[in-house]
Amino acid sequence: MLKIAFDKSYRHPLDEKHRFPMIKYELIPEQLIRENTCNDSNFFIPGCIEDKNVLTTHEETYYRKLCDLKLTPKEARPIGFPMSKSLIKREKLISQGTIECVSNSLKNGVSMNIAGGTHHAFRDRAEAFCMLNDQAIGANFLLENNLASKILIIDLDVHQGNGTASIFKLDNRVFTISFHGKKNYPFHKEKSNIDVEFDDDTGDIEYLKKMDAVIPNIIDEFQPNFIFYLSGVDILKNDRLGRLGVSIDGCKKRDEIILNLCKRNNIPLQISMGGGYSHDLKNIIEAHSNTFRLAQEIYF
Ligand SMILES: [Zn+2]
Repeated sequence: MLKIAFDKSYRHPLDEKHRFPMIKYELIPEQLIRENTCNDSNFFIPGCIEDKNVLTTHEETYYRKLCDLKLTPKEARPIGFPMSKSLIKREKLISQGTIECVSNSLKNGVSMNIAGGTHHAFRDRAEAFCMLNDQAIGANFLLENNLASKILIIDLDVHQGNGTASIFKLDNRVFTISFHGKKNYPFHKEKSNIDVEFDDDTGDIEYLKKMDAVIPNIIDEFQPNFIFYLSGVDILKNDRLGRLGVSIDGCKKRDEIILNLCKRNNIPLQISMGGGYSHDLKNIIEAHSNTFRLAQEIYF
């Protein structure tokens, strides 16, 4: 059965300014249940994360300061959210969601987190709505527990996975791929194992051609025994923060390529949602829902 990490607190009770991007975390499960793609038994509420599972990935001083709300204003400003205990609790819950997903992926082939994809979190600092890097934490959980030895992280959010690239820069057990908009944030990019940069307004044909040219070869060469996929839908044409021009159909084909590759090669897959900030909320929900629909279709 498809297991999906979700808790009501994923939609953090933020002020009006931050409400818009967060509401999708409530609407995606609603949509999936309404249309019968999922039912209540597909969803699970993550438990409490153990500090040791964060400290595989994040520096202790930073983590303590974050938990105790003791980041200096200069350290907290790049996050972009007002800091609060409940915000940190939510962030920890999401990371635990990804940890619990990986066990489900090992068992069922695929598992998904309704949120996550916090790829701008570095070992020792937070950036752009990301404080704890859920997929890096999930990857280190697998390595620490000898559940996987070669991990591929495929980050197709429109923004470069700078935190993830930096965390695994010196770790050859983890191979990082990031496809992103050349002119999109972050303006200083880190070095992933493979970075593919797109010009503004890149559409379906060019995007999907590049995927076909790069990703199957990496899987053949690196031979991962676990894959993380960050399926941000901020590659869509009308995204407020993205600069690419991919259609909803193209975005669905993108997900289909990744899911089929993992299924065909029998490699367990964890998916976190990442960004999606289109003016039209319907587009965001539709594009994210497609990822879940495809997982159900292809795996179950
Ligand atoms: Zn993004």
